[in-house]
Amino acid sequence: MSTCYKFKSCQSQMKRSPNKCGRKVKDLACNILKLHKEGIITLASDHFSRVTDNAFAEKNILDMCNGWKAKRSSYDCHNGHWSPVGSVCLHLNLLKYIYAIGSRGNVKVNEIAGACHTTSKSKHYKGRAADISIRGQYGTRKKEYMNSCRTFGGVPYDETSHIHCQMN
Ligand SMILES: [Zn+2]
Repeated sequence: MSTCYKFKSCQSQMKRSPNKCGRKVKDLACNILKLHKEGIITLASDHFSRVTDNAFAEKNILDMCNGWKAKRSSYDCHNGHWSPVGSVCLHLNLLKYIYAIGSRGNVKVNEIAGACHTTSKSKHYKGRAADISIRGQYGTRKKEYMNSCRTFGGVPYDETSHIHCQMN
């Protein structure tokens, strides 16, 4: 039996959604998701490894917008470690960065907290790094992606297929 008889009390029940990482990152994730739905930001729904799980970039942002933490992958990276499972809050400035470059044109986000990376200490696993594609059409904005990463206090790395931007 429902306990909300009046419209107002039903509304307040609906608003009581999870908020694991704070209002700011939740709202930013929803803004990024909006640009994704408009086709401006492409959030990948696969991993390079072809492993299927709940840690795709798209799922990371969807979970954050719904007030949950972003999930990590859990599989053998074949470089001495496994991606460490569990979930993590995405860093505020990392989301600001993704939103900023998405506000200026098309962007493809390959990975955030999910997939395998070079070491077990990767900033991806801490929710502090994102891989931004520079393949094909996206390559023309490479410099801008790197400069914008610095603007938000991050350190960019040119990884040939993508710009890895991390917040230390
Ligand atoms: Zn990376």
